Amino acid sequence: GRLVGATAEGEELAAEAALRPKDLTEFVGQPKVREQLDLVLRAARARGGTADHVLLSGAPGLGKTTLSLIIAAEMGAPIRITSGPAIQHAGDLAAILSSLTEGEVLFLDEIHRMSRPAEEMLYMAMEDFRVDVIVGKGPGATAIPLELPPFTLVGATTRAGLLPPPLRDRFGFTGHMEFYAPAELERVIQRSARLLEVETTDGGAAEIAGRSRGTPRIANRLLRRVRDYAQVKGDGVVTREAASRALAVFEVDGRGLDRLDRSVLEALLKLFGGGPVGLSTLAVAVGEERETVEEVAEPFLVREGLLARTPRGRVATPAAWEHLGLRPPQGTAA
Ligand code: ATP
Repeated sequence: GRLVGATAEGEELAAEAALRPKDLTEFVGQPKVREQLDLVLRAARARGGTADHVLLSGAPGLGKTTLSLIIAAEMGAPIRITSGPAIQHAGDLAAILSSLTEGEVLFLDEIHRMSRPAEEMLYMAMEDFRVDVIVGKGPGATAIPLELPPFTLVGATTRAGLLPPPLRDRFGFTGHMEFYAPAELERVIQRSARLLEVETTDGGAAEIAGRSRGTPRIANRLLRRVRDYAQVKGDGVVTREAASRALAVFEVDGRGLDRLDRSVLEALLKLFGGGPVGLSTLAVAVGEERETVEEVAEPFLVREGLLARTPRGRVATPAAWEHLGLRPPQGTAA
């Protein structure tokens, strides 16, 4: 989460865990990935073997972690969860790999952010279930081969294109996670509302779904905030009106833009006249990391037709000026 302290973060994680679907039939939407994964897992089970390595690509919050937990559950296997940035040295990876048990699922989030030496070790581990552990330093260093039990690597990345081809090619199956349609998000919300024991009308679910940017994590978070509002200011029922009032309080606008999205757009329009402006410059202007702007705000803004990525930089579309109620400067082809 952004702009939240450690406690809020912990609460968010716990709330997310409670709302996670436990198997493929409970998993809403993503019909393609679900069907493909179902086949892959059934076949592996029938063979009594370990499932092929799976790569999941898609924006944050679309359910990659959830799917990896489901893969482990469906295979009746334990799961180990780590991430690319957590693996600084090849030795870190060797330690994890060598402690895996047969059939275990290793979930590697943000796999595109692993260090190069770790990546190279992973190639061999994925293909031959073997790693070379380097003992000693300098000319006296020796590589000691270590056999690994067969395991299933589930890698997650925001874009499959970020992975070097040799790594990408070692996955037996790549699932591309799409943004969710409003009707699918309504189902996610109704399901979560049942688990949270919050009464939610169809209108309430639709209002939240429409502002959730195609993302279940956001839908669940907004539902919890609307619930808070309904409990404090209303009769506890999540209606369309409660949703719309609550989301105004939490600065989520009618199209689902939140503070970060709006500040990116505002900077682009007000400071850079609508662009083109480079990603780094834009990120500095809003006081965020490049990655946050590129991976959290932009995919949604691009999809909404508010921002375009061009070879010369980021450019606002006419719809962006309109959405923020601003006029493009004279003489620019916005
Ligand atoms: P990140 O890459 O940022 O970790 P993620 O893609 O791994 O994100 P998850 O943590 O799996 O996302 O999902 C976020 C939340 O959305 C979870 O609380 C989960 O319950 C819910 N969720 C995700 N996908 C679905 C789905 N298809 N059906 C129901 N709930 C879902």
